[in-house]
Amino acid sequence: MNTIVLLSDDAELIAELRQAFAQVSPELRVVEAHEAAAATAEVAACWFPPAGSWQSLPRLRLIHSMSAGIEHIGQADSLPAVPVCRVVDPEQRQGMVEFMRWAVIHYQRHFDLVLANQQQARWQRPPQCPARDYRVGVLGLGSMGSAVAQDLAGAGYAVRGWSRSPKTLAGVDCHHGDHGLQDCLAGLDLLINLLPLTAATTGLLDRRAFAALARGAVLVNGGRGQHVAEADLHAALASGQLRAALLDVFEQEPLPAAHPWWHTPGVTVTPHMASAASARCIASQIAENTRRLASGAELLHRADPALGY
Ligand code: NDP
Repeated sequence: MNTIVLLSDDAELIAELRQAFAQVSPELRVVEAHEAAAATAEVAACWFPPAGSWQSLPRLRLIHSMSAGIEHIGQADSLPAVPVCRVVDPEQRQGMVEFMRWAVIHYQRHFDLVLANQQQARWQRPPQCPARDYRVGVLGLGSMGSAVAQDLAGAGYAVRGWSRSPKTLAGVDCHHGDHGLQDCLAGLDLLINLLPLTAATTGLLDRRAFAALARGAVLVNGGRGQHVAEADLHAALASGQLRAALLDVFEQEPLPAAHPWWHTPGVTVTPHMASAASARCIASQIAENTRRLASGAELLHRADPALGY
């Protein structure tokens, strides 16, 4: 019997997944790290696995992320030499599209200013900018970013995108590679980050990136907190180079109550809610890859630990 060990400090997530596995693949043995059967596990399903997890898994053949990203699993050189897979959920992708539609319309139509004005009973009609003149950039054109960029392009926005390798997406002005970043950023009204967190992307959203945008631009960070150089973001907001930042992800989550982002003018904090894969989908995909591992079939949604995504 195939055994899957669930590795995470998040007890609620573990309980939810155990239930989901029981529903979607009752034939699989799903255990937690403290159970004796964990030593026989061939598959480790992970969300921030506790340090030292790998040493007690001599039969490990597959590391499976419980999420879209793999950065929480550890650096490539600290991982056992087994395949690493991640979750790719069409419903999660759709959730991201919806979240980013809201974000873009919120700032394009100045609802942030209107809501602030209401606090002071101020009647002031904001300027209206047609979608075709509103320049939106999407960093990362993978499962999430490509869907978001194409959706916004379909709604008439002037959309640019950036990825590591060249891409062609209908209606999207695509850039790639380190050399393509500044061209992608130049003069944007709103920048959406949907990059994975890797050595190459950590701290990418910094003073230089903010300076390249249009004055009064908006940052929407749906990637990871560590993409943002926090001091640079503070400075860009204080100087007016950025008018607002919508932050969904943070270096420390939950965002501590004392963190300045909660009260920084122009900053909207959302609780890592842009989109989530359902427990059922996570369990189904891990179960499917466990069956594929057993039969020797090709694994789905493999990541490259050396690249970090
Ligand atoms: P993918 O792996 O499908 O796509 C990643 C994209 O980033 C690819 O287009 C890739 O380029 C590009 N990329 C990676 N490294 C670089 C680089 N150094 N320079 C330029 N482009 C780069 O990931 P997903 O779309 O599934 O998810 C992206 C991230 O979104 C996740 O890792 C996670 O951090 C975040 N996320 C956040 C959620 C939330 O609720 N806030 C929910 C889900 C995901 P290429 O195409 O050339 O490989």
